[in-house]
This record gives sequence, C-alpha cells and structure tokens, in this order.
Amino acid sequence: MTTAKEIIGAMSSPSTADIAYVEKAYELSKKAHEGQARFSGEPYFIHPAATAKILAEYGMDATTIAAGLLHDVVEDGKASREEVEKEFGKELLFIVDGVTKLGTHKYRGAERHAESLRRLLVATASDIRVLIVKLADRYHNMQTLEHVPAHKQRRIALETIEIYAPIADRLGMGKMKRDLEDLAFPFIDPDAAVHTAEMRKLKTQETEEGLAKVRKELGKELAKRGLKTFHTDIRMKGLWSLHKKLERKHDDISLIHDIAALRIVVPTIEDCYTTLGIVHALFKPLPGEFKDYIAFPKPNGYQSLHTTVVTPDAGIVEIQIRTDEMHRHAMFGIASHMSYKQLGKNIEKLAKGAQKSRFSSLSFSWRSLIPSLMRVVRKEGDTPGETKIPPWLAELAEAHADVTGSEEFVEGLKEDFFSHRVFVFTPQGDVIDLPATSTPIDFAYAIHSDLGDHLQGAKVNGKLVSFETELGNGDIVEIIRRDSAHPSPKWLDIVRTSLARRHIRSALGLTEKEKPVRRRTRSVRKEKSKKAE
Ligand code: MN
Repeated sequence: MTTAKEIIGAMSSPSTADIAYVEKAYELSKKAHEGQARFSGEPYFIHPAATAKILAEYGMDATTIAAGLLHDVVEDGKASREEVEKEFGKELLFIVDGVTKLGTHKYRGAERHAESLRRLLVATASDIRVLIVKLADRYHNMQTLEHVPAHKQRRIALETIEIYAPIADRLGMGKMKRDLEDLAFPFIDPDAAVHTAEMRKLKTQETEEGLAKVRKELGKELAKRGLKTFHTDIRMKGLWSLHKKLERKHDDISLIHDIAALRIVVPTIEDCYTTLGIVHALFKPLPGEFKDYIAFPKPNGYQSLHTTVVTPDAGIVEIQIRTDEMHRHAMFGIASHMSYKQLGKNIEKLAKGAQKSRFSSLSFSWRSLIPSLMRVVRKEGDTPGETKIPPWLAELAEAHADVTGSEEFVEGLKEDFFSHRVFVFTPQGDVIDLPATSTPIDFAYAIHSDLGDHLQGAKVNGKLVSFETELGNGDIVEIIRRDSAHPSPKWLDIVRTSLARRHIRSALGLTEKEKPVRRRTRSVRKEKSKKAE
C-alpha cells in the first residue's frame, strides 16, 4: 500500500501547506473507500494512492496529486461533491468531476463510453490537469489489468492503445505512452507480445556488448573535446512500437536499427551539435537517416538530434543527442513544465533556437512554432488552476462539443489523434498543424470557416493544385478566396479533418445523420474489404 509519506517523498519541493493538503486528501480518500475492494481483492484505496504517487513522480502540483487521491471518491466512495469542494476547493472538484465517469442512467454501452470521453476532453479544455489525472488513473489500472475479468481486458487494452497512448504522445509524455502501450500489448495479442519480446532480447544480447564499447569510445572522445558533463544511456525500443515496426518491415528484424539506441545527454544546444560532429567523425553516418528535431521539433514538442551510424563493434546503431531539458520533456512532456516558474525565459530561449532553423527565411510566427505543448503558461501570481491548455486540445474539445452522434465523435477523435501530423505554412509564415494526408480544403477550414466556405482555389509552393492534393511537411499553402465560391458535396470525400467535414456539411445544409461515405478513413476501408470477402 502506497503511504502518504511515499507520495510526499515523490513530490518535488512541496511546501508545508502542500504536504498538509495532500495528507488531508489521503485521509479522506482512505476513509471514503473503506470496505471497498478491487477486482484483485485488495482494498480499493490502493488504486487512488498509486495514482497519486504516479502524479507526484511526474512532477505535478499538490492540487493534481490530491485530485488523484480523490478522483474516485464521489463516484465510488462515500464522499459528496459538496464535502470535497468545501475541504479542497473548486479547482480540485473541477478536476475530479472531469475524471469522473458518467452516472449510470443517461447513457449506455458504447454511447456512454463515447460520452465519457467527450466530457473528459471538454473538461480538459478548461484544465489540462484533468487529462493528466486520467492518464495516471489509466496507468495504474493497466498495471493491475490481469485481475479484471477476461472479457473486459481486451476492450480496456485496446482503448488504452487507441486513445490514451496517443493522448500521452500528443502531450509529449513519451514514457507514459510507451509504458501504456507495453502494458496493453499482451492483452491485445499475447503471441505477438511473446514473439516481439524474444526478438528484442536476442537482438539486445547481440548488440549490448558492442554498444558498451561504442559508449566508452565516444565518452573518451567527448571528454577530449572538453565536454565533461554529459551522460549516456542505452534506450530500448518499446515492445509495442517494435511490433508495429516489425509489421511494416515484414518481420525482418535486420531492417530495424533503433531497437537499442545510444542516448547522449549534454548541457546545451551547442553541445548537441558539437557531439554530433564528434559522432560523425568517429563513425560513418547512414545517408538520409539524420534528423534534426532541435531545429524542427515534432508537433508534440519532442526535440533531439537523431543519427544512425555504422560502428565496428555494434553494427548499425541509432544515436540520440539532446540536452537535459529536452530529455526531461521527452519523458514527461507537458508535466515537465507544470512546476516551471520561468517559462517566459524558456520561450525566449526556444524562439532563439528556432530562429536558427532552416525556416529562418520565412517571417516566422514564433508562437505557433514553439510546440503547442510548451505553451503551458501560468498566469500572473502562478495560481494553480490557471494553467493554459494547448490550443490544439481546446480546438479539439470545441470541435467535438457540438457533435451529437457518439459514433462520429469517437471516429473523429481517433482520426484527429491517431494520425501523424504535418506542419504547413501560410504565405505569412504561420504554421498550421494538420493530420497527415490533409488537403488544401482542410487547411482553409483550419484557418477560418469563412475561408473554407468560399474556397476558390489553392496554391502549394506557388503552384495551383487540385483540392485532392495531400499537403506535405513544410508546404506553403495559399488559399484563393471568392465570395461566389461554395463547398461541393464532393469535398466530403476529399477532406481529412472532422472539422472541415462538419463545416462543409453545415454549409450544404446536411444534418449530422446523413453520413456520406468517407473514402479516406481506415474503418471504412476495413468495412469494404470485409464485404469483399
Ligand atoms: Mn480510478
């Protein structure tokens, strides 16, 4: 059983008031869940206590940790909302309400489930901490999934991989994403999980010794060049992500070079590039494998230099170079900024880093380049609860808030979360973040519904293109607007985002229930192939 001491011990520099607050939540939760049991037969209270500890380990504030302790008391326990609000404040109650599943009566089955998700996202639009508590809750539930009745396990595991892991990824919480996936994997495909683990083990044994040598050699060379405060570690690829990659490579493990990667963490950005130079001087890099995610971060804020080199001792090896700060962000994402008091400075620093990027010729809008998740800014006075949420999430929640069909909601959510993203640019240099395979129509609607509704034509990188054109990373897209132009029903087959689809439908006067065929979605393709069988 996780003790209050252990939770407080995991917090980063809590004040006396923070400690008292968390202790009080611990006591109330323990009392409220008294006599209740988990599927495992253990006292129910182990669950909120474990959830709170995970939140503490992710560097969350006292309110969030206390919300982790109390997240189930209103729904399952014997505490009332009034009591929780009186003792712990509005803010905590808001988080608990957002995490709470729905009452039993109004919704059933899949609809109930979709409605819970929608509520979660809408609540998240006001306070991102709702989502972080939900992730910690799910994390502990996955750790104890073996005790859940077998017929529920697969559904929960699938939902974890399809919804929660991508959310963690989008929030930049790399460790959470990977752990959630690997906890779910054995419940989704037990045979593949065993097979993948065996493949990884074999390959690791092969490369481990070699990697240790590479590490030593690199360490010597870095020290020689005056780089003394660095550390290295070996990161193993997650099992689920290895499994997906193996599927793409037709189970040929020799084609996968990043099962074990050597990670080098150095103090500054300059050190990263110096280190890269040293690595490339020592080992021949594979052409086309170098990625500069420092100058051009991933949409979730991930930054690092990745290169793949040929070493005499370990064969082909991926090397990742990053600063301590980037490392913290890669592991904990949005949570790593929750306790930051000097985010203003960080933004300046980031903007400077970005200025050096290859896009410096465009008049860049810094605010949109700085990965959306770094924008967790607290307002003056650093009052908890005033954390701003990433705009993409606000948009997502807003876009889904008015959809009535729950099936469409889940479909839309999957589409928006699942796919990889592309960065495209307006002629003014603003960045628009869209799902991969988006078209100029999606782009127009992402900027403004009026622009979409009066879309006449589009230019990509200066050339007129058809509306079907799939936008690529870094494309500059110019929309030609005309008052007399109007959406055509054909567009519904072309667009990629649910936002565009909804606007078009409303411009065409279609109701939500009339669902035109969507050629592009995975589920529709699946249905088609089923029918063909
Ligand atoms: Mn729970």
